[in-house]
Amino acid sequence: MKDKLYYEDPYKKEFTASILRQGTERDGTPFVVLTQTAFYPTGGGQPCDLGTLSGIDVIDVEEIEGEIRHRLRGALPEDKSEIAGKIDWQRRFDHMQQHTGQHILSAAFEQLYDAATVGFHLGRETVTVDIALPELSREQAEAVEQLANSIVFENRDIIARFVEPQELAQLPLRKPPSVSENVRIVMIADFDYSPCGGTHPSRTGEVGPIKILTWERYKNNNRIEFVCGARTIREMNKKQMILRDASRLLTSGEAELADNVTRLLTERKELERSLLEARGKLFEYEAGELVEAAPLNAGIHLVTKTFTDRTMQDLQKLANHVTSIKPNTVALFAGYGDKTQLVFARGSAVPIAMNNLLKETLPLIDGKGGGNPNVAQGGGNMSVSAGDVVAYAERILKESLSSN
Ligand SMILES: [Zn+2]
Repeated sequence: MKDKLYYEDPYKKEFTASILRQGTERDGTPFVVLTQTAFYPTGGGQPCDLGTLSGIDVIDVEEIEGEIRHRLRGALPEDKSEIAGKIDWQRRFDHMQQHTGQHILSAAFEQLYDAATVGFHLGRETVTVDIALPELSREQAEAVEQLANSIVFENRDIIARFVEPQELAQLPLRKPPSVSENVRIVMIADFDYSPCGGTHPSRTGEVGPIKILTWERYKNNNRIEFVCGARTIREMNKKQMILRDASRLLTSGEAELADNVTRLLTERKELERSLLEARGKLFEYEAGELVEAAPLNAGIHLVTKTFTDRTMQDLQKLANHVTSIKPNTVALFAGYGDKTQLVFARGSAVPIAMNNLLKETLPLIDGKGGGNPNVAQGGGNMSVSAGDVVAYAERILKESLSSN
């Protein structure tokens, strides 16, 4: 354990060591094993340290069968006798804050609700713990957060050390150790005793503010998302900016934001409803004009038109209005934009089936579509102008009407 400098002194940022051995991973990444190291290897939920060894970037650190492999961006010179190591302290201290904050938060859940921690993930932005508690109210979460932060503010001592079995038996452990020898216990005076191999600061105050962000049911537990220390400040800054922008946009105080958004959403729904109504009336009016102007052909009003700015739904609605005004009406509509869209519809007194008419027309534009005898719709390419497509369909329809 003497070679693991991060256990003796978690604040060690620089160190020197000699090379024990160098090697290459299967993927070609060079690695080195040193006589001693301050680089914490990935483990116990804590990501590894990064930094440099004699100026070469350390990209990953992992403990494999008792040796700590420092994976490097490039190989170290073979003749190098002394290696100067430097760890990325900002990253390490962040991990110490998050990891220790997790100890405190987990202990607070245990103390208040007798709820064990069954999972832990230290992510890049936030941290999660899975707590064996199927339901968690806002009040409960606040109570946990409050207790956790009071432990931080009291700035209690944190001691991490290896303990002998006799002493281990005396300690009120929060969870049993996962190893049987060299058990290391992280002790927060009169609050939490946990077996852990991670790195921790020497006092709880260094963890900084602990903030629970959200929680959600996960399996039979609750997954709590939180941040500690510098991440809390960053997260609160981010939220503050969002609130400030939203307040400005809505010219609303922060406290009234939710009410104001609710009001806007209600207003929007009402507007959508009245817009829909107005459009319906507009379609009725437009349909009336179209029918009025349509020529009679073998007793059938033939309404044909092409449109550029209508959706398929709009065409269908308009066709529906047209054919419900008079039962002896046929509407042949084509819309064009990036493709040609067709809607054919008939009133109840028209004997020609619209799906058949469409089927005969679609090959002209290499199109696809379907429908029933009353209304049919489809689309295809723009090889023929929309006007020509409608004229083509009209010709077939007239032939059918005259032979009928
Ligand atoms: Zn720990």
